[in-house]
Amino acid sequence: MKDSGIEAGGAVGSDHVPLVLLEKVNKHFGPLHVLRDIDLSVERGEVVVVIGPSGGGKSTLCRSINRLEPIDGGTITVDGRRLPEEGKELARLRSDVGMVFQSFNLFAHKTILQNVTLGPTKVRRRKRADAEDRAMALLDRVGIGAQAAKYPAQLSGGQQQRAAIARALAMEPKVMLFDEPTSALDPEMVNEVLEVMTGLAREGMTMIVVTHEMGFARRAANKVVFMADGQIVEENTPDEFFTNARTDRARDFLSKIL
Ligand code: ADP
Ligand code: MG
Repeated sequence: MKDSGIEAGGAVGSDHVPLVLLEKVNKHFGPLHVLRDIDLSVERGEVVVVIGPSGGGKSTLCRSINRLEPIDGGTITVDGRRLPEEGKELARLRSDVGMVFQSFNLFAHKTILQNVTLGPTKVRRRKRADAEDRAMALLDRVGIGAQAAKYPAQLSGGQQQRAAIARALAMEPKVMLFDEPTSALDPEMVNEVLEVMTGLAREGMTMIVVTHEMGFARRAANKVVFMADGQIVEENTPDEFFTNARTDRARDFLSKIL
């Protein structure tokens, strides 16, 4: 297996393998071809911002990376491993990919602390006391340690989204995926979430972020990927992309949102 590179569920020498690698990924919803020959590589520590018009396939791309959405063709590997179709191994490898969605998706009937400790105790099999210590440290880090005993509905949207980030981090993911994490927030809460994300980026977390927050993209991204109609239309540096995009399609999109 040494030189085959990729083996379902198996470890391979990962020195030269990008942390996340998509090759010729295709996905249909019935007659709709939503991902078309997507090639994307994300190196360790890299922050990739994905932007593009609604319906372009950004969410499907995110969801396919940890198999929330099965793909029809191509391969996706995380740290050199292909996610298995199902089973315990899937749960464990899936936790290598932390996801944060537009809607915060916290468990409503659990406290913030319980939300953050659930995964580590159930999937990572950490001892409760260890999981709680770590959860508290993470909640402090995202600035909501004081809210640990509350239920999600008692928190503001920005606080809930920061709790969702802490919950994802508690699984010690290798990469964090954010799908429009600030789109559902009141404007005054956007920055507190972006600041947490910028901090993570600075600390070297590998991140794929779907967002239209240009300030964040300029500050934190190493690479911007512009996606439309299921295709990657342009990959560029943030500086180039926002001042001098190469494709008409990207320039047209930017002229509408900037
Ligand atoms: P984006 O996140 O860029 O707005 P999506 O990935 O959500 O795009 O959607 C891409 C396309 O796939 C859209 O046309 C959308 O309507 C369609 N789509 C997304 N999810 C489903 C689904 N579960 N069933 C059928 N069509 C879907
Ligand atoms: Mg979307």
